[in-house]
Amino acid sequence: PRSNGAARHVTARVAPLGSRLVLALVEDRTRERRVEEVRRDFVANVSHELKTPVGAIRLLAEAAQGAADDPEAVKRFAGRMLTESDRLTHLVQQIIELSRLQADDPLDAPSPVRLDDVIKIAIDTSKIDAEAKRIQVVSGGLENLEIFGNEQQVTAAVSNLVANAVSYSDPDSTVLVTTKVDQGNVEISVVDQGIGIPSTELDRIFERFYRVDPARHRSTGGTGLGLSIVKHVAATHGGEIRVWSAEGQGSTFTLSLPVHRGSEQKQEERL
Ligand code: ADP
Repeated sequence: PRSNGAARHVTARVAPLGSRLVLALVEDRTRERRVEEVRRDFVANVSHELKTPVGAIRLLAEAAQGAADDPEAVKRFAGRMLTESDRLTHLVQQIIELSRLQADDPLDAPSPVRLDDVIKIAIDTSKIDAEAKRIQVVSGGLENLEIFGNEQQVTAAVSNLVANAVSYSDPDSTVLVTTKVDQGNVEISVVDQGIGIPSTELDRIFERFYRVDPARHRSTGGTGLGLSIVKHVAATHGGEIRVWSAEGQGSTFTLSLPVHRGSEQKQEERL
């Protein structure tokens, strides 16, 4: 009968489609589960990271209360409370920055980003820390380069790289920020002569909250979020971040961004 034939025909056509659909659903679920896992880890890490300085501030406040008749000790405790609360502020700023970056697509409204401006802001932002350590931060290479993307994000990425170079360098050294073009990509390199990174740690430093030997870096007050911000910005701009490092010699971080990808992608979407 006609209706049966039609039914078989439909079934035959639906079967492979159906299995593909199931596969897609499974893949989707796996991805969803992974996203959820990453989110849960992030929240757990954030809570842990926030608790550390808050706990320290509390202990210091208690210590100050207990030392009320020793003004020198109270002053010392207050100084350390200030340091810890600065650390907390920095941490909260970076967490907000990271979640804002993840929320918006930089290529929603790509605009020309002048790298000279970005580098100038990054160097200016690190000026106080650099001067305190007598570190010279100089820029060189090609001028007037532009990419298409999100200026705020690219500035955040380059600023984090320059800030790290200054943090992990010894006093009286030099940090160099260079720009060049290689195969349609703009490459911004931040070169330092600092403490370097052990090769075994190199592929972990881009993870959120990961810090190489936190005890060694305690005084830098870092959060372990800077490089994950850089990695995120590189990815959303269709670029990449590379690192070369040798312990005791220094590190070079290279942010490579396609010159035009942002505008081309938007054009393709419009077609
Ligand atoms: P942090 O806030 O700790 O600097 P990042 O995500 O920016 O966090 O960096 C992760 C870790 O990578 C740092 O804790 C540090 O150990 C290492 N690191 C980053 N940049 C440099 C650098 N220029 N020189 C040496 N070590 C670095």
